[in-house]
Parts: sequence; C-alpha cells; structure tokens
Amino acid sequence: MNDPLVVEVAKLLQRAGNAEPFRDVVVIEGLVVGETTLVDGRVEIDLMLEAIVEGIAVGGQLSAAAVAPCRRCLNEVLLDLTLEVIEVFETESEPGDTYPIDRDKTIDLRPMVREAILLALPQLLLCAQDCAGPDPERFPTSGEMGDGASEETNSSSDPRWAALDQLDFD
Ligand SMILES: [Zn+2]
Repeated sequence: MNDPLVVEVAKLLQRAGNAEPFRDVVVIEGLVVGETTLVDGRVEIDLMLEAIVEGIAVGGQLSAAAVAPCRRCLNEVLLDLTLEVIEVFETESEPGDTYPIDRDKTIDLRPMVREAILLALPQLLLCAQDCAGPDPERFPTSGEMGDGASEETNSSSDPRWAALDQLDFD
C-alpha cells in the first residue's frame, strides 16, 4: 500500500505539540459536482499536521483548478479553487464528527480532502457575469439569472400581476 495520502503519525503522536508539514500534489478521481470537476483530478495539498491532546489536528490549504461548462453558453470555464481546511483525527473517532487515526498509527487524508473539495465545488459556473449565452437574440437571459428571492420581489412586472392591477373592484 503506497497511498500518498496515508500518513504515518506514530512519531507525531509521541508528544503533543509535535508538528510536521504535509505537501503533495495528488490526483483524486471522482470529484464531480453537477458538471463541475477538477482539471486532471489534481489537488495541491499544503497542510500542517500537529499532535494535540485529542489526536492530530490537520490544517492548511488545498488548491485545485475546477472546470465546468458555462451554464449559458456552454463554453468551458476554469476556476481556481483555494480552500482552508482544519480537521481533527482521533483514535476514538465518531463517524461524521472527526476522522480516525488507524490502529497502525496512520491517518488517511483522502476522505478529508475529498469532502472539502466536494463542498467547495460550485455546481454551476458562468464564463462571465454578463455572459449573454450562445444566441442572445433568440434566448434572452435577462431575468433568468435572478437568485430566486429577487425574482419574487420583481413580480409586479409579471404580466399576470399586471392583469390583476387592472381589475376594478367597484
Ligand atoms: Zn458563457
């Protein structure tokens, strides 16, 4: 087993306060949210592992390039992702709460990295805020991009409401 993301922590655990960096560039398959995925599955990892009373605290930065089709014009959009992570690995770990330290005194950074990236991947991207789409004449996009809430407050311009405005309640 030579998983680059499985780290030996026996030495770290000998004394609280011990710390060592972990830097690597790894390929993680299957990081997809909607149509957004990572370029070549590559994630750049720059972490510090530190022994604490509870186990090992892992904190630092993950960087990756995400790619997705623009939701309007379908051109490819690239997005640089940089995210801060901080997690705790414990011998007695509750699933979903912290990550486990294995009996053989190793920690597997992969689930942590996967989860952090998946949470950070935007589901939909635009090549530009004012992207007009492939054929703005035939498929005008104005209004379509509202964030829901603002669309509702604009409902007075909806023709259905305009019809109501003209009703006479006499
Ligand atoms: Zn576009």
